[in-house]
Amino acid sequence: CGIVGYIGNNQAAPFLLDGMSKLEYRGYDSAGIAVYEKGKITVEKCVGRLDSLRQKLDGHMPEGTMGIGHTRWATHGRPSDRNSHPHTDASGEFVVVHNGIIENYLVLKEDLIAKGHKFVSETDTEVVAHLMAAYYDGDFEETVKRVLRVIEGSYSLVFMCAKEPEKIICTKKDNPLVIGLGEGENFIASDIPAIIAKTRRTFIMSDGEIATVTKDSVWVQDINGTPISKKVFEVNWNA
Ligand code: GLU
Repeated sequence: CGIVGYIGNNQAAPFLLDGMSKLEYRGYDSAGIAVYEKGKITVEKCVGRLDSLRQKLDGHMPEGTMGIGHTRWATHGRPSDRNSHPHTDASGEFVVVHNGIIENYLVLKEDLIAKGHKFVSETDTEVVAHLMAAYYDGDFEETVKRVLRVIEGSYSLVFMCAKEPEKIICTKKDNPLVIGLGEGENFIASDIPAIIAKTRRTFIMSDGEIATVTKDSVWVQDINGTPISKKVFEVNWNA
């Protein structure tokens, strides 16, 4: 179970796959990436090792300079292609990766199904993507906050929205997440080894913090909109 994210001037997919390989020590049964380009998010994912995903891609990395990646340790829904992350809403405009467990996903899922949502996986995570679509009113950050007010459990969550392609939003509770600061590019990961080849300037997210990551900035706030200033440190060890 690991998470990576990239936004910047370079291609996202090579970093995502490399970063995910650095998180293999955390254990996983499936892997996937989502990359944004020209109004569209492309998801490539499958059960198995990272090599299975590479084989599936067959040298054709999805193009785009913003993306997220995930290695899954299945808790809800068996390891399968469909249950692999990233997960999207029905429109494919909202995409999410998640480590942890959404404890109240069943009630949320029943409610969404009653409102006409159709689910394609057995995961707890898919409800988060559908909630994003259900709550979105033109403000990505506020939509994430609305979702956080209804989900219970543990999570590192990273979101992209095809309608707001200049930013990635991430948040966490009882699961790890770090941000790496680059020049004209920024990185998100479960742990420092995933980003160390790219940058040594980093900070660690705390529970309840919501980060808006663009290629040139990272803005952190709490659920009430209070800005949080983070202490950036330099990693001085090698992975
Ligand atoms: N609970 C989620 C799932 O089973 C995430 C598992 C993980 O942490 O990788 O899909």
